[in-house]
Amino acid sequence: MTEETIFDKILRGEIPAHKVYEDEHTFAFLDIAPINKGHTLVIPKNSTRNILTADEETFAHVMETVRTLSPKIKEAVGADGITIGINNEAAGGQEVFYLHAHIIPRFENDGRKHWGGESYKDGEAEATLEKIVNQLKN
Ligand code: 5GP
Repeated sequence: MTEETIFDKILRGEIPAHKVYEDEHTFAFLDIAPINKGHTLVIPKNSTRNILTADEETFAHVMETVRTLSPKIKEAVGADGITIGINNEAAGGQEVFYLHAHIIPRFENDGRKHWGGESYKDGEAEATLEKIVNQLKN
C-alpha cells in the first residue's frame, strides 16, 4: 500500500494548491518552489509511489497530460524550452512519494545546469548493457 503523502491531500482539496489542469485521470498544479515560474507537477488520480510501481495505464495518463500541458506552459511563460523530470526513490531525488512529473519551463541562460556525465571505461558499456538486456528477458 502507498503511504499517505502531501499530494494525496492536495488531490482531495485538503491542502490548497494552484490548480493548472484536471481531467478524469490526472491533476496538475504549480510547484510550491519553482525552478522557474510556471514549474508544474502532474500527478495521477490513481495514487502510486513512482514510475517503479506505476501500471502502464496510470503512467500513460500522466504522460499524456504532460504532452498536453508542455507547449501551453511554454507559451504562457514565454519559455525557450521545457525540461520534463520524474524522480524515483530518494536516491533518484524523490522527496514526495507520489508519482509526479515535473514540467519545468527553461530559458536560454537560466543557469539551471544539467548534471555532468562521465565516459565509460573500457568494457564497462558492454558489461552494463549485458546486465540490462538480461533484465529485459525477465
Ligand atoms: P521531488 O523531489 O519529489 O521530485 O519533488 C517534489 C516537489 O514537490 C518539489 O519540487 C517541491 O517543491 C514540491 N512540493 C512539495 N510540497 C509541496 C506542496 O505542498 N505544494 C506544492 N504545490 N508543491 C510541493
